[in-house]
Amino acid sequence: MTEDTTSGVVFDVSTMRPSSAGADQPALPALVLVSTPIGNLQDVSSRAREALAGTDVILCEDTRTSATLLRAHGIKTPTQALHEFNEAARIPTLIEAMRAGRRFALISDAGTPLVSDPGYRLVRAVIEAGLPISGIPGPNAAVLALTLSGLPPQPFLFSGFLPPKSGARRTAFERLRGAELGGLAATHVFYEAPHRLAAFLEDAAAIFGPRPAAVARELTKRFEEVRRATLPDLAAYYAEHAPRGEICVIIGPPQAEEAPVETLDAALAQALTAMSLKDAAAAVAAAMGLPKKQVYARALALGRVAAPE
Ligand code: SAM
Repeated sequence: MTEDTTSGVVFDVSTMRPSSAGADQPALPALVLVSTPIGNLQDVSSRAREALAGTDVILCEDTRTSATLLRAHGIKTPTQALHEFNEAARIPTLIEAMRAGRRFALISDAGTPLVSDPGYRLVRAVIEAGLPISGIPGPNAAVLALTLSGLPPQPFLFSGFLPPKSGARRTAFERLRGAELGGLAATHVFYEAPHRLAAFLEDAAAIFGPRPAAVARELTKRFEEVRRATLPDLAAYYAEHAPRGEICVIIGPPQAEEAPVETLDAALAQALTAMSLKDAAAAVAAAMGLPKKQVYARALALGRVAAPE
């Protein structure tokens, strides 16, 4: 049972029915987010099927793409398009219809809606309107790729798609590397298009060095493949073997041996702008997996150089 904090509606998510609802009352919330397959049409839960069959309207990123899935599961609910380009304009009408009692499900072309897909603005509007909202979990390429990568599953940082051009992409990688120097130690998860994969890996290798990484391709489909190697090795492989299909890239967190003096100095210099010498040494040591004593000694030495008589 969950209470919508804005509307006060008590909602039984196991049956998708407001707890006070009789047979004549709507069986679904105003908006239900439904995850759909990322390749294998059978990856639809029975709750997802029931919600899609029982709602008034299914909002689809692309109605033609979703028609294949809905047909495969015998779902005849009317569909409407809700994509990046019409989402903002459609919101007032959708909220009005929800207030009048119409129930909507939101799906995207694949996986979990909103994750590198449309729907965020609609979800915000539904929450702000105090209407009941729920979700039916299911496939998501990023999480499946992460769990198959063999790299630490948490913490992880999902960045979705980076900019397509190399200069902007390198800037994005540098920003992530900067966060690492400031203490972030997370596995990175990205989406990427096949024709950009080789260049993406080359840029990643230039910024992150020989980190362990994985390329997960065509998950849940016939040619599913997960290739695990260092970034430079993956870059070299995909420069020679143009990949096809849908791709996630996973990059492991910083390695302990990735801490040459310049990097350690940079991390300390950054940390010292916000913390005491002792705290900065402790934070950097933890982030880089280095002995605290060694980092503290280096921080002291740096302090002496930075503050001459
Ligand atoms: N909302 C989706 C989700 O939950 O995974 C992702 C949508 S995003 C527009 C599509 C991207 O997800 C693809 O370009 C690819 O990077 C990744 N992706 C989707 N399906 C995949 C699959 N079967 N195998 C690997 N990556 C996939």
